[in-house]
Amino acid sequence: MQGRNEERWDVLVDKVERRIIRRRRSIERTAWVNQQKVLEAFRHFRVSDVHLRGSTGYGYNDRGREILENVYARVFRTEAALVRPQIVSGTHALALALFGVLRPGDRLVYATGEPYDTLRTVIGEGESREGTLREWGITYKQVELGPDGGPDWDALDRVLGSVAVRMVVLQRSGGYSGRRALSVDELEQVIRRIKRRQPDAVVLVDNCYGEFTETREPTEAGADLAAGSLIKNPGGGLAPTGGYVVGRSNLVHAAACRLTAPGIGGEAGPTGPEWRLFYQGFFLAPHTVSQALQSAVFGAALFEALGLSSRPGWAEDRSDLVQQVDLPSGEAVLTFCRAIQQASPVDSHVVPEPWAMPGYPDPVVMAAGTFVQGGSLELSADAPMRPPFRVFVQGGLTYEHGKLAYLCAARALEEAGHLPRG
Ligand SMILES: *Cc1c(COP(=O)(O)O)cnc(C)c1O
Repeated sequence: MQGRNEERWDVLVDKVERRIIRRRRSIERTAWVNQQKVLEAFRHFRVSDVHLRGSTGYGYNDRGREILENVYARVFRTEAALVRPQIVSGTHALALALFGVLRPGDRLVYATGEPYDTLRTVIGEGESREGTLREWGITYKQVELGPDGGPDWDALDRVLGSVAVRMVVLQRSGGYSGRRALSVDELEQVIRRIKRRQPDAVVLVDNCYGEFTETREPTEAGADLAAGSLIKNPGGGLAPTGGYVVGRSNLVHAAACRLTAPGIGGEAGPTGPEWRLFYQGFFLAPHTVSQALQSAVFGAALFEALGLSSRPGWAEDRSDLVQQVDLPSGEAVLTFCRAIQQASPVDSHVVPEPWAMPGYPDPVVMAAGTFVQGGSLELSADAPMRPPFRVFVQGGLTYEHGKLAYLCAARALEEAGHLPRG
């Protein structure tokens, strides 16, 4: 009996993997292009052993820091980069870019619908007012996306045609909204439209989860600034913390002045013991992102074969790491997340429970057995405990681990009777 069940799963996995071969190849081709880009930048700036060492105190003349920032700028095709362990998260990096550019009385527009939760708080759309853009007198307008999940051109034109806008933000990833990611081609079209209407507006792309999922970055498609987290894609799973801002040098400088102080800007900022993990992580990032994407494609195809719906579909193009899986009930969500946790290298024995996370209306359950706390290029899953019962899975440092974890989740769902019959 047991043997026959094993065999059935083996046959299924085999079928799924044969189906996704070409999709995986195409993801590997993206990694191939990006790996060359990254290596070229390392070679161009002659990265060497001395750069991997860290600095203390003020961190003046830290060559490792300067060269790493040059490497980022070259890969993102920008004039400048700010890449720092002192940037605590993606939210912080984006907030630096926003507060760096915006001044009281300025107008900010989000052109991709509802911002990621933490950014809503930064803007002043959340519960707290303290220190938000709103408190600083910055007005805010949001343009919803169209019914196909792409830009709503008419609505965008109306907003850009009325008053002067200082800054427009485009969020590449769908985040946890349920919407799809926007491709770099789509972002390029939006940026052209914005620049035609308001040439002086600064365009910032929230690039979280997007880096290296395509062969071009938004900064190669007209964005003035892009920002993200080092414990997501560009850290390659190795960077222990940090964030980055890349773009036009005066704008990156403005963000640096927010990070430290006016007059100091990017000139100070130590690393502590070493830069190695930041360099090595960035070097590995194109490959690791490819592994995470291939894991997601496997998961999507597996769940499709089991009769569950997941988005994006396994055959669809991707511009972020997020994989949604729709489940029949809250019980199924718990079963899924617990199985992902069990299949994690760290804290596999811990049983995730739903908890009331600050800022969220419903309890949230999270599976995250990661080496870096909250590191979401490592395989993790989370879901709000409310209908439609939808789990968001992201990451996977290796395809093998991603495959294993998705398989554990599928088998746990079957054992608990949560899979559709057939
Ligand atoms: C993760 C994420 C952020 C915020 O990053 P943190 O590091 O969690 O602060 C912002 N925007 C998007 C789209 C994200 O996925």
